[in-house]
Amino acid sequence: MKVQEKRVAREEGICYNKDMQESILIIEDEKDIVKMLEYNLQKEGFKIISSSDGESGFSLAVRRQPALILLDVMLPGMNGLEMCKALKKEEKTARIPVIMVTAKSRESDKIVGLELGADDYITKPFSIRELTARIKAVLRRTGDKEAFPEMFTSGELRVDFSRIQAALKGRPVSLTAKEFELLKALIKAKGRVLSRDYLLDAIWGFENALEIRTRTVDVHIRTLRKKLGKAGRRIVTVKNYGYRFEPC
Ligand code: CA
Repeated sequence: MKVQEKRVAREEGICYNKDMQESILIIEDEKDIVKMLEYNLQKEGFKIISSSDGESGFSLAVRRQPALILLDVMLPGMNGLEMCKALKKEEKTARIPVIMVTAKSRESDKIVGLELGADDYITKPFSIRELTARIKAVLRRTGDKEAFPEMFTSGELRVDFSRIQAALKGRPVSLTAKEFELLKALIKAKGRVLSRDYLLDAIWGFENALEIRTRTVDVHIRTLRKKLGKAGRRIVTVKNYGYRFEPC
């Protein structure tokens, strides 16, 4: 990564830690669109792989196991709808979320796509902002379905996710909803660094991200740390990026 790109990444609060990057597979035959998407989604911190036809896209999906597939309906050979069906049938790719890209003139494709198991759709022409929001929303939705223990204990801290309660040495800690969600996101990340940008988006939602600004995250982390006392020290600041939670 060039120095200039690193600076921009820092300013935007994007974490380029390789382990954190989720990959998106773009299956689209229009090269200009692929290039544009690649450029913009990389800026959002995603790793991009792409394919220009259904057949090779399918084998890439099986081999590389991307976090999400962006699938154009109009493709040479196997079209996007047939491909979506094939992806959902194949055991190795069935759980990978799919966003279908459809043309406005073909409204029926959306419905068929969703019936075939696509997680969302977007209509061409779309804005990159809308697409990014949809990608993040789908990732968030499908990520939440992953098995996650209901109880977390580490040292004096005990968090009950189903009851939305935290306790220190058995005594309940009163957290606001946002503080609890922050704590949950950090614990769930299992020691990985979460950028401020990610936390803003995951907890406050994309639509508010621009107004709220990243300082909100810092302010909430500060109060969360205070309330957690000694355990609060485990929320580690990663300078210019974000935060991570260090289990005992
Ligand atoms: Ca196309």
